[in-house]
Amino acid sequence: MTEPTQSAALFDRARTVIPGGVNSPVRAFQSVGGTPRFMVRGSGPYLEDADGVRYVDLVSSWGPMILGHAHPEIVDAVQSAATRGLSFGTPTIGEVELAEELVSRVAPVQQVRLVNSGTEATMSAVRLARGFTGRHRVVKFAGCYHGHVDALLASAGSGVVTLGLPDTPGVTGAQTAETIVLPYNDLAAVEACFAEFGNDIACLITEAAAGNMGAVPPVPGFNAGLREITARHGALLIMDEVMTGFRVSPAGWFGLDPVDADLFTFGKVMSGGLPAAAFGGRTDVMSRLAPAGPVYQAGTLSGNPVAVAAGLSTLRLADDATYATLDANARTIGAMVGAALTRVGVTHQMQYAGNMFSVFFADGPVQDFAGAQAAETWRYPAFFHAMLDAGVYLPPSAYECFFVNTAIDEEALAVIERALPRAAEAAATAVRSPS
Ligand code: PLP
Repeated sequence: MTEPTQSAALFDRARTVIPGGVNSPVRAFQSVGGTPRFMVRGSGPYLEDADGVRYVDLVSSWGPMILGHAHPEIVDAVQSAATRGLSFGTPTIGEVELAEELVSRVAPVQQVRLVNSGTEATMSAVRLARGFTGRHRVVKFAGCYHGHVDALLASAGSGVVTLGLPDTPGVTGAQTAETIVLPYNDLAAVEACFAEFGNDIACLITEAAAGNMGAVPPVPGFNAGLREITARHGALLIMDEVMTGFRVSPAGWFGLDPVDADLFTFGKVMSGGLPAAAFGGRTDVMSRLAPAGPVYQAGTLSGNPVAVAAGLSTLRLADDATYATLDANARTIGAMVGAALTRVGVTHQMQYAGNMFSVFFADGPVQDFAGAQAAETWRYPAFFHAMLDAGVYLPPSAYECFFVNTAIDEEALAVIERALPRAAEAAATAVRSPS
C-alpha cells in the first residue's frame, strides 16, 4: 500500500482553513478512521488521488456519476456550454429542455422548479406543501435523510448518524417542533399519527427507497400505503428521489414502484455531477410558487446553464442499456461481496434498493433505522480500509450505499475481486472497540 503522504499533507492544510478539513462531513473518514484521500482526477470507473494511487470508485460522487467519470460527451456538453457563458441570471432554453426531460420521465410531475442542491429541493417542497395546504406539521421517517434542512434534521440518517449526533446544535426545538418522526416501513405508525394529527399535517416526506441508513427498500405496498393515508387526510406526499431519481430506472424509483406522489424531489444524476437539483409535481400545486403564486422561492444560480448542460447530456445518454448495465454491475459486485463474506463466515445481509446496495453485518433483513443501528457496523472500518489499500474506494461509512456506474468493466471487477478475500478476513477478525 502507498502511504497517502500527499493526501495527509493536504488534509493538514485543509483543516486549518476548512472545518474538519472537508466541505461535507462524511468525506472526513471519521467513522472509518484514517486519512481521507484527496482526489485529483476521475476517468471512467477510476479515481486517482494526490499520491498517484488509482481506485475503482464505488461511490460515484454519492450517486450522480452513473456513466462514470469524465464521460467524453458530458465533458463536451459542459465545455461548449461554458464557452457560451457561465451564468446569465435570465431564463435559458437549456432550463426548459431539462424541465421537459424530467417531466417526460416521471408521469405525476407536470412542472418542475430547478434549484442548486437536494437540500434546497426538499426545503422548498416542504415550504410549498405548507403554503398549499395552509397546515404546519411535517412527517418524516427515522433514518431517512433529506439534506440539512433545519426542520428535517430530526433523527436524520447519513452523516448525522455517522457522527453520532442524534440531533444537531443550531437547530432549535421550535424548528423541529412541527416535525413528527416515525419508524420507516411501519404503516401502522403512520395511520396512528394521522389519526391524531391528520388535520394539521401539511405533508409526509419519505425517501422513495431509503438509502441513507444503508439500502433499505420500502416493503411491498409501503409507498402505496403512504399515498392512500396522506390523500385520505388531505396532506401532500413528497417522494424524495434525490438519490434514486434517474439512477434506479429511467424514471427513478417511480419507474419501479409507480406511486403517484404530489411532489417529487430530484438531484444528483439529473445534474450530471454539477450542482443542480429540482422539485416538481402537479401543476395545481406547483403553480402556487412565485411568481405564478404566493409561495416564495428563488435562486441566483438556479438553472445555471453549465449545470443544466451536464444534466441534460447525462439524461439523454442514459438509455435502457445504461440501466441494464447499472443493475448488472450492482448485482455482480453485491454477489462478489456477499460470497467473500460468506466464505469467511461473517454474518451479513446484502440489501438492494434497485441498483443501490449495501452490506449490513446483521443476521436478518434490515427494514428500519433501529435495525440498521443494531447491525455490527464496527466491522465496516476494517473491511473499508482493506478494500482501500487494494485500490477500491467504498463509501467511508457503514450507513451509506455503494453506487455503481456503467464504466465498471472486467478490469475494474477484477480489482474488486482481488481485494475482497483480505477485506472479508479483516471484517471477520475485527473487534468491537469498547465504547
Ligand atoms: N435527499 C436525499 C434522499 C439525499 O440522499 C440527499 C443527499 O444525499 C439529499 C436529499 C440532499 O442533497 P444535497 O446533498 O444535494 O443537498
